[in-house]
Amino acid sequence: MNNTWPFNPLLRSQQTEHLVMKGDKRRYIKFRGAPYYGGIATADAVGCSFLCAYCWSYNRNENPERFGKFYSAKEAAGILLEIARRRSFTQFRITGSEPVLGENSFNHLLKVIEIILDDSPRHTFILETNGFILGHKEDLVKRLKLPRLLVRVAVKGIDPESFEKITGAGKEYFKVPLLAIKNLERMGIQAWPALMEDLFSEDQVEDFIRTLKDYGISSDLELERLERYPFVLNNLRRRGIYL
Ligand code: SF4
Repeated sequence: MNNTWPFNPLLRSQQTEHLVMKGDKRRYIKFRGAPYYGGIATADAVGCSFLCAYCWSYNRNENPERFGKFYSAKEAAGILLEIARRRSFTQFRITGSEPVLGENSFNHLLKVIEIILDDSPRHTFILETNGFILGHKEDLVKRLKLPRLLVRVAVKGIDPESFEKITGAGKEYFKVPLLAIKNLERMGIQAWPALMEDLFSEDQVEDFIRTLKDYGISSDLELERLERYPFVLNNLRRRGIYL
């Protein structure tokens, strides 16, 4: 894996997908119950199209081939359903990675979602994504029109420069995740942008909210807080981001 930057995130997605998919199986490192969203069955997968300075899975996303075991969609969904049954959860997600790296990982994800949503009308799947491949491939967005699927798109930067500094991906790709949100909204899929607010001033966040509206995105911006692990602060400093 080439970890120099700025990199081409499309190329990185393809390389990563090659490392984290084997047939229709994907690499996962663990499955657990998590307190977020009021309680959610969570799968930690491996591999991402970006390499964000604040990623809490930084090592795993730098070298995805060294981590995890391959699980089919049926196996992963089965483990998540079992966790949900034990903990009385009705919400599900995949985290620590980018679920959509290309067609193959998308098909795996869709199968996981369909098995989970078919299991009970009470189940909701929250797709956490960086929106890069979904912005790049509109045909995939259409296939996400499923009942009880919500899509949270982490947008990373407020402009091309901050996007490049934070993700490591070239600044020219800044608008691709925004296009994903726009397409999701247009298809009637419940989707919204999320931004790590600690990295920006209040004025910058306000300006960015206006940018989203100007771009045609109507959903509200979710503001998330940074987990200040020492290695995260160190990675941010190495990219010239001081808090
Ligand atoms: S998009 Fe998410 S999983 Fe990917 S590197 Fe950034 S923080 Fe990590």
